[in-house]
Amino acid sequence: MNNSRILVVEDSPQMLNLIRTILLRSGFEVVTAMNGKEGLDAVRMHDVDLIISDIMMPEMDGFQFCSEVRKNSRSDNIPFIFLSAKGGMQDKLSGFEGGADDYITKPFDPNELMMRVTAILKRTSRYRLEAYTDSLTGLSNRRYFDKKLAEVVSLSHRYKKNFGLAIFDIDFFKDFNDKFGHLVGDQVLIHLGRFLKDHLRDSDFSARYGGEEFVVILPDTSKETSMMLMNRMREAVQDKPLIHDGKEYRITVSVGVAEYPTDGDTARELIKCADDALYESKTSGRNCVTAYLKKQAANS
Ligand code: GH3
Ligand code: MG
Ligand code: MG
Ligand code: MG
Repeated sequence: MNNSRILVVEDSPQMLNLIRTILLRSGFEVVTAMNGKEGLDAVRMHDVDLIISDIMMPEMDGFQFCSEVRKNSRSDNIPFIFLSAKGGMQDKLSGFEGGADDYITKPFDPNELMMRVTAILKRTSRYRLEAYTDSLTGLSNRRYFDKKLAEVVSLSHRYKKNFGLAIFDIDFFKDFNDKFGHLVGDQVLIHLGRFLKDHLRDSDFSARYGGEEFVVILPDTSKETSMMLMNRMREAVQDKPLIHDGKEYRITVSVGVAEYPTDGDTARELIKCADDALYESKTSGRNCVTAYLKKQAANS
């Protein structure tokens, strides 16, 4: 909760600065916007844990901003607090009916703001964690991966950076389950999940994409480096067996790698490219890493 990211939307620079200072002092990360429109851009661009918004603002007011936030499935769950000089019962009613979770009037007491922010975050962060975590491996799940990938695409577009996307798929895992049983299979998934977490750089992100498939995002990384890192990972998986109930179980993985923006500049295209490359790894013998190549697309 301490590293939660809060979006503050406020058209008065002095007020914006005041709220920002209070939040920073409490250890929160703060993103700011000066009206509803900019607020929507910020929500698209960043993974936001809570929104504090003014109501009276140019371009797009707080009521409209809140209703747009609630309409979008990527943001409809974000806790939303109005912080406004409009203190009438009708305004509060409109705020809550429009989807706000709390309403504070200006002038406000910084301590009260902090209490309310903390209370909401305490309650929601647990649900968010559950909703975004794969219960078997403890890794992020596909739902969170989708959000994260969209975020990395926007940031990489903005800062003109490239990044790598890799999809891992365990080789002959159906046979493995048939031979050793589903429970040992589950242990392998946990083992591989821990492996990814332990062997990646702090800036990298891994998730369980589904079944026996895992994804890795390598921000600010070239295709060559992604290939080198993923190959190292593949070798490590091959060399380090799972030890379970005193027995050793070995698996191998096939990997497909794609690079933003060379192979695709949307999340969808990139996943498709990494998936095509993975298919290539499977057909060329498994236990290998393949980079997406444009000609593959022409062949398929
Ligand atoms: P390939 O090398 O082509 O990837 O072969 P494969 O057998 O791994 O591929 P396939 O997609 O046919 O099978 C995937 C298997 O993964 C089938 C399913 O039993 C297993 N699997 C998916 N999710 C889980 C899980 O949560 N636990 C266990 N134990 N197995 C799972
Ligand atoms: Mg205002
Ligand atoms: Mg598979
Ligand atoms: Mg498989």
